Amino acid sequence: MEHEYEYGIDTKIVHAGRRPCPENMALSTPIYQTSTFAFDEILTTGIPRGKYVYSRFSNPTNTMLEIKMAALEGGDSAVSFASGMAAITAAMLTILKCGDHLIADEVLYGSTYDFLNKGAPRFGFDVSFVDTSDVDQVIDAIKKTTKLIFFETPANPTLKLIDIKTITEIAAEAGLRTVVDNTFLTPYFQRPLELGADIVVHSATKYLNGHGDALGGIVIASFELADAIRKGVLRDIGGALSPFNAFLILRGIQTLSVRMERHAQNAREIAAFLKKRAEVKEVFYPGLDRKLSNSKNLREQMSGFGGIVSFEVHGGLNESLKFLNSLKLCTLAVSLGDTASLIEHPGLMTHSVVPKSDRNRIGITEGLIRLSVGLENVEDIKADIEQAFDQK
Ligand code: PLP
Repeated sequence: MEHEYEYGIDTKIVHAGRRPCPENMALSTPIYQTSTFAFDEILTTGIPRGKYVYSRFSNPTNTMLEIKMAALEGGDSAVSFASGMAAITAAMLTILKCGDHLIADEVLYGSTYDFLNKGAPRFGFDVSFVDTSDVDQVIDAIKKTTKLIFFETPANPTLKLIDIKTITEIAAEAGLRTVVDNTFLTPYFQRPLELGADIVVHSATKYLNGHGDALGGIVIASFELADAIRKGVLRDIGGALSPFNAFLILRGIQTLSVRMERHAQNAREIAAFLKKRAEVKEVFYPGLDRKLSNSKNLREQMSGFGGIVSFEVHGGLNESLKFLNSLKLCTLAVSLGDTASLIEHPGLMTHSVVPKSDRNRIGITEGLIRLSVGLENVEDIKADIEQAFDQK
């Protein structure tokens, strides 16, 4: 698509990176289901440059996904991975070397937290977990060896919001890189690179794919950083995305705008509905809870609030489990961003790797439930929640 910059986000979602296959004009992106690529000749300098070589380094189907995601996030370049975790660790392993320090928010997806808590120290990375919504904590945590600040916004599972612009300004002043996990809002609602972040990472498994049928991850950055990520971690550690999954994710992204609008519309209604229920102690949804979006920057950094609603029920573990085990339509499952409503208990499921004392401190209580609101009729989701609460 030429002149991409002239088009709005909905048009880019459909068209960016999409061009007919030059061989036979197939309009839908072909799946280049090949591990390797053939050459006509070898030169004294080696194989010709700029050609596909081996699908662990790059593949034409994956390239289409990378072009689309770079266009949507407003970055120079993107690198796709086999999962969100592969993308996140690739960004960290590229920027950090043994002895470097990184600042991470204390509320993160469970495996990201676990990697930073247990895995990262084995690579010699020194990690400080702080509340990055508190600027003073970020400034106080900066050391001579600090290289990077990492956070999710909204954070999984408490939906805490982080002020991207303020943090990236602090980071730039201190010569640090900022990596933002944009999985929850996607570039449809939020584009951290435009607010100063250096790298955006995604679990493409979630809203980008949108149909719960493929794992994937993606990193979007400058040409220089993306090149370093591809030539270092992707090529040599090898967590490459399969071309088939790249195709499924590309196919999913084409409907991202309509899905995100509907997810957000349903989520807002569910959040308002939960707020009125006597069984519910607190509802966390940035579009409803001014405690979460309590500054102009926060309200302006996103154009919508996404499809995840977390809530705490009265009665702790007993009541939350009774409720979860009584649902009929909402599916008890980890993951999110599926067409179907998926519900889970972070303390026992996605965040069980976070030590219990830390979970309690950061708000992942025994009564906390995370709901990825799906695309069903919202009245049906409400009715399911109602009947589950009504089980005695
Ligand atoms: N980031 C966030 C915010 C997530 O919720 C998840 C998974 O749930 C990941 C990253 C990891 O993604 P993946 O499961 O694709 O490795």
